[in-house]
Amino acid sequence: MNTLAIMDTQDVFHQNQPIRELKNRLSEQGFQIVCPQDARDLLQLIDHDPRVCGVIVDWEAHGEALCIKINEINEKLPVYAFLNGHATPDLNLSQLPMAVWFFEYAPGTAADIAQRIQQYTREYIDDMLPPLTRALFTYVREGKYTFCTPGHMAGTAFQKSPVGSLFYDFFGANTMKADISVSVTELGSLLDHSGPHRDAEQYIARTFGAEQSYIVTNGTSTSNKIVGMYAAPAGSTVLIDRNCHKSLTHLLMMTDIVPLWLKPTRNPLGMLGGISRASLSEERIAQQVAQTPRASWPVHAVITHSTYDGLLYNVQHIARDLPVSSIHFDAAWVPYTYFHPIYAQLSAMRIERIPGKVIYETQSTHKLLAAFSQASMIHIKGDYDRQAFNDTYKMHASTSPNYAIVASTETAAAMLRGNPGKRLIARAIERAMQFRREIKRLREESDGWFFDIWQPEEIAEPRCWPLLPGEEGWHGFREADADHLFLDPVKVTLLTPGMRATGEMSDEGIPAALVAKFLDARGIVVEKTGPYHLLFLFSIGIDNTKAMGLVRALCDFKRAYDNQQMVKSTLPTLYAQSPDDYQQMTLPALAQGIHRLIQQHELPRLMQQAFDVLPTAVMTPYQAFQQQLTDGVDTVAIGDLPGRVAAAMLLPLPPGVPLVMPGEMITEASRPVLDFLLMLCRIGERYPGFATDIHGVQRTDDGQYRVRVLRQRPRE
Ligand SMILES: *Cc1c(COP(=O)(O)O)cnc(C)c1O
Repeated sequence: MNTLAIMDTQDVFHQNQPIRELKNRLSEQGFQIVCPQDARDLLQLIDHDPRVCGVIVDWEAHGEALCIKINEINEKLPVYAFLNGHATPDLNLSQLPMAVWFFEYAPGTAADIAQRIQQYTREYIDDMLPPLTRALFTYVREGKYTFCTPGHMAGTAFQKSPVGSLFYDFFGANTMKADISVSVTELGSLLDHSGPHRDAEQYIARTFGAEQSYIVTNGTSTSNKIVGMYAAPAGSTVLIDRNCHKSLTHLLMMTDIVPLWLKPTRNPLGMLGGISRASLSEERIAQQVAQTPRASWPVHAVITHSTYDGLLYNVQHIARDLPVSSIHFDAAWVPYTYFHPIYAQLSAMRIERIPGKVIYETQSTHKLLAAFSQASMIHIKGDYDRQAFNDTYKMHASTSPNYAIVASTETAAAMLRGNPGKRLIARAIERAMQFRREIKRLREESDGWFFDIWQPEEIAEPRCWPLLPGEEGWHGFREADADHLFLDPVKVTLLTPGMRATGEMSDEGIPAALVAKFLDARGIVVEKTGPYHLLFLFSIGIDNTKAMGLVRALCDFKRAYDNQQMVKSTLPTLYAQSPDDYQQMTLPALAQGIHRLIQQHELPRLMQQAFDVLPTAVMTPYQAFQQQLTDGVDTVAIGDLPGRVAAAMLLPLPPGVPLVMPGEMITEASRPVLDFLLMLCRIGERYPGFATDIHGVQRTDDGQYRVRVLRQRPRE
């Protein structure tokens, strides 16, 4: 980071001997000097090149107005202002938190000024680095010898082998040097929360509005288990979102707790609408407790926030009204809500402390922020037993954490601070808004069909749009609650023709899987594909070129479709999977084929019914897992599921919600669950390449779908 911008628009500096000298000095010191044309140019430069580490201006020519604009972009960026001997700086500036240093034009001072600029630059960089990352950089720079793990010894061992050298050259020297042992005392310890690691967690807590934060280096999968193991003792009852991540299913298998399921609503498109307010009421919970064997009043509740489709709850209401003293929001998908006002009611750490309640929020830092995979955070607000909590933390942690992951978690937090952080999130939202408007515009101008976006009619300004009762026309959820669920603008769901949000199917349709394959062939990977919708995440890494690339690819699809192009030429990979099937097929013919199959099987109705009933819980997931270990399992064809107890969770992706949990049994009443699974299998058989991925279901070489059930049959 060594770019200095010199604003010399009025040639004040050019004629100035001291400044010419200064430029030379700075270049000698390794600074790269750029000279913007005008103020606009400069501001764009600062905005687009985060490596600019200082600005040199003539105070009289630019002065205060420019400083205020620089401040809006980055309030920490050092500004070096040159004054005539008789001018005085305007003192209004002292109102602003900004870094301005004043110098006078005087001959013979260049060396001194250049040195001071270097020092201020160092301070600027040092100040922005969060504590552990700073300590890690310093440690690596010092290049100490160690005689401890890891065995590659800062990369030396790799370079003693041909294949190791390839690995070393690929990842680079710093990756190796920053991979260090817990024995390095000056970096403290993640597991003991000491030294720079403790500072990092405190820094993160302050940044995210938590009372206490924990860095977890093996994903929110682990964060969820840590929170659950602590908050729900053996024998207790927990209220848990049926739309939970599999890590929570694993929690239920690991620890002997009784789940009471919170069933999310769904719309005909197959999106999850979240849990209704009624389901969270004291009355409903009491009913569930009464109907569930071994259940007592829940000590803990887990809610997936946001849903996969980008729906966020008004968490303020839930925290206040849910009659449970410990509430965990699994916010794996939304680590950014604290940082923009449109999420004020929807961000768990914006909840004020509530006496007698503890609020947990877990976030996958790596999912939508800039951090390495597995970077995760636990945030806590409320009173809890730190020692006991840390015991569960350690139970799930490795004693050799990866420091690069820790540092990236902390850096993700640092990136969100101050004006640069605000702009980052605001930009991501604005980019998603632009994309939404662009698709709308193309739809209006298009001849014939075009893609649509799942959003309200009016999307003038960026906000989280409420799913209001009476507006099912766009959202499709019957019996929506007011002021309860909101659509996040950065989660963009594109709709393909074929089905309306309210469930009516049209004669012709383009199943989304087809579009997803088309995009994939063009290097665009979709986050999630439903029957007639595709989800795209507009995270902070999405820039305009990516967004425009997507728009272009969608237009290309329309052209290929309208021109009746062949599957063979447009989707070569699909064709290669089964040339016989796809030899003569056009894109529209394939689309209509799958569309008709979906129509015949009444997919929307079947999906609705499948998720409306829960299979019978014969035992808890914990008991089922124990029984699997002691008595073993049988593998049966999926059609033979009724009457047997599932050993594994069955979860079709999409929609990503478990249909059957370990310990559950499909009975006559829950027959639609089976019908739905069978239909998914049938589509996959009929159209190779379009099989739905169903976790827990194995496809054998002869094309059978098989599932694992407990060997022991349930008692009649
Ligand atoms: C991805 C995800 C997790 C797990 O997070 P990892 O960081 O991948 O371990 C937990 N909960 C939800 C809701 C998720 O989507």
